Amino acid sequence: MLSPSVAFSFFYWLVAFCFVVAPTEFQTSGVTIQSLFASWLGSESIDFVNYHIKRTAATTLFHASLPLGYFIGMTFVGESGLDFLELSEWAIHTGWQIYFYSACSLLIACATLVYYWHMNDWSNHPIAKNLSLYGENWRSALLQINAEFRSIDKYTSGPTGTSRTIVVDNWIIKTGAYDVKFVHQDHVVLSVGKTEEYQVSPDTMTTVQYVRINVNPLKAQPAFGVRILSTEYSDFKAKLRTEILTLPNITIHQTSGELFLSAFRDQVHQNPMFVVDSGSSFGSCIGCHEKPASVKLTKQCAELEDGDCKNCRCPPMWCLECMGRWYASRQDQSRPDSWMGGSATCPMCRAKFCMLDVSAIQ
Ligand SMILES: [Zn+2]
Ligand SMILES: [Zn+2]
Ligand SMILES: [Zn+2]
Repeated sequence: MLSPSVAFSFFYWLVAFCFVVAPTEFQTSGVTIQSLFASWLGSESIDFVNYHIKRTAATTLFHASLPLGYFIGMTFVGESGLDFLELSEWAIHTGWQIYFYSACSLLIACATLVYYWHMNDWSNHPIAKNLSLYGENWRSALLQINAEFRSIDKYTSGPTGTSRTIVVDNWIIKTGAYDVKFVHQDHVVLSVGKTEEYQVSPDTMTTVQYVRINVNPLKAQPAFGVRILSTEYSDFKAKLRTEILTLPNITIHQTSGELFLSAFRDQVHQNPMFVVDSGSSFGSCIGCHEKPASVKLTKQCAELEDGDCKNCRCPPMWCLECMGRWYASRQDQSRPDSWMGGSATCPMCRAKFCMLDVSAIQ
């Protein structure tokens, strides 16, 4: 049986963790700092900048009060739960005293910081400092951003969450828990840093690609990065006035077809190679007539007589890309998540094959 203080500690830090990290489930349940302080924060869509000034202040204070909240909670359930540590009374007592003073110092430090931000009607807030780089009076930038954010024509990564990338007519905005960065589109250099691919779920093997874009402001403000879903990359680019520098070795998969092709290629490279006699050549791919034929279908997902797949005896006739496109064209177009686990038939002999049966030739 858990002692009350262990149970309380577990529960308290779990909830605290959810508040700090704010996983999607927690956000959709509506238990967020934004909803707790909703009436004070005002409306994001009407007064975007002030909303985020207040939100970052509230977040800083709220997070800083969590350790002290734990101490106060523990005084109600008692300290006896720490008995299992077999520490002496004195050690527990001193430990708690140190904890209490540290928690108080953290809260006082953050409260002082927020008070400093608030002076002169928030003129000391990092957001105000950030905007004042772009003009004498930061409030003129504030009004412009508010007006541009109210327009429907903007790019926003995801509908909710504390961490978002927003592009409006003149500004690139990145929101975070404690800070929001604003960069004017006329004073920035953008470049694609790298691309990252993730498997969304191991069952369907659907992959998503993220493009990491380096934002280098030309004004005195630190560089930062934003992460865009590759399928949203063209929407993001459409709202920009500047070009994004892209190295030639970076490929951005903007459609689900391209994303699939990259996953198909990875799978084929994981499959065993098909060894052909040295000196034999198979001519060029009969799909594109450009690349050499480079893949062979051989049943290897199961024993020859098991399963639905059949062994194809056709010689290599297709390049990897054309075979990938052929395979994709035989799938349910409305459900790209099912493609990796699906099957297709050989374009020549109609033998059924799955992605495990496609081998690169060697
Ligand atoms: Zn081809
Ligand atoms: Zn065949
Ligand atoms: Zn198979």
